[in-house]
Amino acid sequence: MTLLVHDVTLTYPDGDGRLTALDAVGLEAPAGTLTAVIGPSGSGKSSLLAVAATLVTPDSGRVVVAGVETMGLGAAEKSALRREKIGIVFQQPNLPASLTAAEQVQLMAHLSGRPARAGRRRALELLDAVGLADKAGKRPHQLSGGQRQRINIARALMNDPAVLLVDEPTSALDHERGAAVLDLLVTLTRERSTATVLVTHDHAHRERADSTVTMTDGRLTALGTAPLRTP
Ligand code: ADP
Ligand code: MG
Repeated sequence: MTLLVHDVTLTYPDGDGRLTALDAVGLEAPAGTLTAVIGPSGSGKSSLLAVAATLVTPDSGRVVVAGVETMGLGAAEKSALRREKIGIVFQQPNLPASLTAAEQVQLMAHLSGRPARAGRRRALELLDAVGLADKAGKRPHQLSGGQRQRINIARALMNDPAVLLVDEPTSALDHERGAAVLDLLVTLTRERSTATVLVTHDHAHRERADSTVTMTDGRLTALGTAPLRTP
């Protein structure tokens, strides 16, 4: 199992008490599959991704990434694991305005210690993979919302992550562009064998996922892979 979240509980301070954001949650994501996490706002979806990304340490439970038990790891080890194994795509692409598409992706190569020329080559390769080969020289304001989100995805792929965590990538996009980004994620998941977890509020996305879970008040319910029953 490329990503394993086992019996995870996460609470946040809330006034005098604690708010339970994740309540004994379990999730398994095999390589080359797309798992959709659907649920209303505030149900704990982003918290689940933050825990899976090892950015937030849960109160209890286990998170195993590409065979590595993460609960005992220190901050530096977690950060190395994230760099090598985990790609994260947040909801709003945070792209520096002055950098071209190629430079946005290349910046990630630089941060992960690649030599400039290899980084440049890798950036152009990834822009091609997300369908932006002809936009390498464009700056964010010259691109559409969907294209900016593709750059965001290209950046997350820099180190060939085993696990790809994607938080509501289409929430700022119209239906058509959202569907195209989802197509891209499905393709990348298959081609690169990533264990992809996609948080979405769009129920249409579950048709493209290999499995779907719903989150309600911090609890996960598996919907499995069975086709929808008609009444
Ligand atoms: P979703 O992504 O489904 O909208 P979140 O995981 O962001 O849900 O939030 C789950 C619950 O945890 C919400 O009640 C939210 O207000 C709370 N929460 C999220 N992040 C924090 C935080 N850093 N500190 C305190 N409470 C938080
Ligand atoms: Mg969220």
